[in-house]
Amino acid sequence: MSITLGKLFELSVEKFSTKEALYDARLDQRWTFKEWDDEINRLAETLRIHGIEKGDRVSTILFNTSEFAHAYFACAKLGAVFNPINFRLSEKEIEYIIRDAAPKIVLFEQAVEKGIQPVVERHPNIKFWSIDHQPVYADYYYDQVKNTKVVRPKLEEIHEDDVYAVMYTSGTTGKPKGVIHTHRDMVDQSLILMASQRLSSNDRGLSVAPMFHCAELHCAFLPRVHVGASNVILHHFEPHATLEILKKERITAFFAAPTMWNMMLQEDRSSFTLPSLRLGLYGGAPMAPALVQKVKQQFNVDLIQAYGMTEMGPAITVLFEGEQMSKAGSAGKPLLNHEVRIARMQEEGRTDPGHLADAGELGEIIVSGPSMMKEYFNNPEATREVLRNGWYFSGDIGYMDEEGFLYVNDRIKDMIISGGENIYSREVEDALFEHPEVLDAAVIGIPDEKWGEKVTAFIVKKSEGITAGELEEFCLESDRLANYKRPRQFKFVNDLPRNASGKLQKYLLRDQVKG
Ligand code: ATP
Repeated sequence: MSITLGKLFELSVEKFSTKEALYDARLDQRWTFKEWDDEINRLAETLRIHGIEKGDRVSTILFNTSEFAHAYFACAKLGAVFNPINFRLSEKEIEYIIRDAAPKIVLFEQAVEKGIQPVVERHPNIKFWSIDHQPVYADYYYDQVKNTKVVRPKLEEIHEDDVYAVMYTSGTTGKPKGVIHTHRDMVDQSLILMASQRLSSNDRGLSVAPMFHCAELHCAFLPRVHVGASNVILHHFEPHATLEILKKERITAFFAAPTMWNMMLQEDRSSFTLPSLRLGLYGGAPMAPALVQKVKQQFNVDLIQAYGMTEMGPAITVLFEGEQMSKAGSAGKPLLNHEVRIARMQEEGRTDPGHLADAGELGEIIVSGPSMMKEYFNNPEATREVLRNGWYFSGDIGYMDEEGFLYVNDRIKDMIISGGENIYSREVEDALFEHPEVLDAAVIGIPDEKWGEKVTAFIVKKSEGITAGELEEFCLESDRLANYKRPRQFKFVNDLPRNASGKLQKYLLRDQVKG
């Protein structure tokens, strides 16, 4: 038997047929596993009638919606290649992905409509279906599916080595690249994440982080569906609404990016409790240890951190609850069946798996595991650059301690070199986060004649009562940071540029400084 995502889903349907599977808060609609399966099969048949065959791409530009979830499994059952596009991208960026992925059908919603209309008009051969109303220039999703019969796709024709999705990286370090994953990659990732989170069919999960990103989709949503847990879908993140639904829907487990946890902490909730919540998953970007501690205190929740990247499925290491304090700042140990090594930096920053760093020595994080991507779509050159000798070269710099715990210091491209010394922006950001008046912080190097680069901190303050002088003093105090690492310049801003999955877009800060 070939274990594909569609097959695994149907096994859940068999076991949990009448149990609640899905609740879409936007539509206020619930589905049991059987009802959801029917909905998925109806959409799969609609896609088939509209010419979607095995290997064809179907794109979504959707917030968190049940239609996204239906499309995800309909594609998996048909053998179509699912291509979720970030709804926050600009018209130009969306078009770049549409041209690259060349889908036959695109599902989108009103919230992204303004940016999508010119794209629709420039691509008359692609079918665009709007999920929430009928704009003049596109078709209405529900008109397409309403009269279609429920027909089970021929799952037997889909193999576990078939491509299941093309997911584009965030593009934080360049143009987004389409990451190709097979069914087998995701089945492995789902099973490993299910075990790591000790998920069971008694869990109730919330999808509030963007589902187009693999952190939510593969680490949180997918393993919950496969284990038979119930899933609540919240259209988009807003701290107040998220806390309310966590309570009302008695959520037991969910994922939030560090910046989302930070925003939930800012809600004034002294007597607010979440008695059902047992597990908070975080990751996708560094989370300062000071913030981890505050989240634990405020929400009284067990935490698990995941580190990884789209190319690896994404998760490769996890830091469990019991290690959050004793190994603060670490990203944990490799997941089952995963190998993580630190490749020694050689001349001109090159690394290779034949030269490994010692414990405690910084180098490039290289990884191998069952969910590693097959390749980048249409991009053999970029594939060759990152996949070498069975390893994925992450472009992240870090080290392993004596006990095998991984520490992620920075992206190699974000590392600052000042006066010949390497400075890792994350270390400086973590120190700044310890100040009670710092709400958010980002550190970059800006070109400087004397030092090569000057450490510059962008700060979002909690209140007006803090000055650059006080922050300088704070960094000096109790040897928090070595002298050469201390920011030489502080810029106070109202917010920091982060993408939809909470990652800092440091290139925008660099552009701002240049401008
Ligand atoms: P692009 O390759 O286009 O720049 P991206 O690297 O942002 O996109 P993602 O796969 O979304 O694409 O992000 C992966 C990166 O996010 C990792 O390489 C790492 O730098 C960072 N990251 C993920 N999880 C963590 C974590 N737990 N701690 C620190 N950094 C993390």
